[in-house]
Amino acid sequence: MSTPSDVLVVGASAAGLAVTENLRRKGYRGRITLLGEEEVAPYDRPPLSKQVLAGTWEAERTQLRTRDVLDALDAELALGERAVALDADTRTVRTASGAELRAEAVVLATGLHARRLPGLTGVAGVHVLRTLDDAGRLREELLKAERVVVVGDGVLGAEIAATARLMGVDVTMVGPQGAPMQEQLGHDIARRLAALHTEHGVRLRPDTLVDGLETADGHVTGVRQGDGEILPADLVVTAVGGTPATDWLTDSGLALRDGVECDSRCRAADGIYAAGDVARFHHEGLGRSLRLENRTNATEQAMLVAANILGEDRAYRPVPYFWTDQLGVKIQVYGLPTPAATVHIVEGDTEQGRFVAQYVDEEGRPIAVLGWNMPKQARQHRQRLLDRYAPAPRVEPAATPS
Ligand SMILES: Cc1cc2nc3c(=O)[nH]c(=O)nc-3n(C[C@H](O)[C@H](O)[C@H](O)COP(=O)(O)OP(=O)(O)OC[C@H]3O[C@@H](n4cnc5c(N)ncnc54)[C@H](O)[C@@H]3O)c2cc1C
Repeated sequence: MSTPSDVLVVGASAAGLAVTENLRRKGYRGRITLLGEEEVAPYDRPPLSKQVLAGTWEAERTQLRTRDVLDALDAELALGERAVALDADTRTVRTASGAELRAEAVVLATGLHARRLPGLTGVAGVHVLRTLDDAGRLREELLKAERVVVVGDGVLGAEIAATARLMGVDVTMVGPQGAPMQEQLGHDIARRLAALHTEHGVRLRPDTLVDGLETADGHVTGVRQGDGEILPADLVVTAVGGTPATDWLTDSGLALRDGVECDSRCRAADGIYAAGDVARFHHEGLGRSLRLENRTNATEQAMLVAANILGEDRAYRPVPYFWTDQLGVKIQVYGLPTPAATVHIVEGDTEQGRFVAQYVDEEGRPIAVLGWNMPKQARQHRQRLLDRYAPAPRVEPAATPS
């Protein structure tokens, strides 16, 4: 495809902004429209569960770019405007206000909606955390709360529990896993994380399903476990994952399967691309499709999409990466740990709370690296994962002249 005369980016957050910036950085002079449902200028989400919730950052500090920098992009910022439909054949997006926006290239960067558990919504004192508004509301209530129950033991639930605990609130974290983040960290390291939380006074309810809420006068008073036990709470946060924001794409003609299905170029259809949390792409290194929900992916995938819009033909083969900060510990994870992997400590010392762990598969091949308060060293070990995630393209032997 030749360079498009205009580009429409739907979703004005980390990935959407990065597509826009990278198009300009690469010299693209065409018209760019950045359409976003939220009223506010693009902001960063990772601080929401950490500094913003804790009150050490004002909301403004999460802004990804100043107004001047955004203006200099010379893109049309259409904020507070929700896309409600896409016609993939004509690349036309309809918005809630009835506008029709058509462009030669369209990027879908609508991220996730926080998943809400049935029966746990519409009750005062029950929160989710995905947006800046959510963070503001949750902080206000946390300052008044005495007993918080966090439903969900993934990365977000663990971060919220950690921050709430550091704020001095009585916190219980309930979840189906044996230890917090077990799926992302594997059994051994998740057990260490559980110990860290327990040492700081977070009460853990592992292997526990939630059945419903107890309420009085429309306000939550407790969380009912599957076994009938009730955990008293005046504030409940559900952190049970997100659903790709593809509701508006149902009639678009695009393939939707836990995200917008793309090829290895992050292309969903002719002239249509996806980036960030909403994009499911074919990872050539792994030979399967993947959807990544992390901040670094939003930027890296956006860079690749910008390049491919401008005529490059690059496959997206990242080494997945995320970080989390909890209770004074900085964790970095490169690659995708699996429950069956064996974990070796390759640097540092677990007793001293600083180490690098390497995960190897049944054949002894490294599949992931984790840093626990050792970010620089963990990054150095990332190199060992390249063979698995981003192998150099195979060079076919030259044909022997007959
Ligand atoms: C509280 C929190 C803490 C996190 N902490 C970490 C961390 O420590 N480390 C890490 O690696 N990752 C972290 N993440 C994940 C990281 O923030 C996400 O991976 C990243 O924000 C994804 O960016 P995105 O642009 O793809 O999607 P999003 O940031 O979700 O942005 C999508 C945007 O699209 C808009 N949108 C949705 N539907 C429509 C529509 N129909 N029309 C118009 N606009 C629409 C949304 O309003 C939103 O502004 C965290 C996420 C959260 C919520």
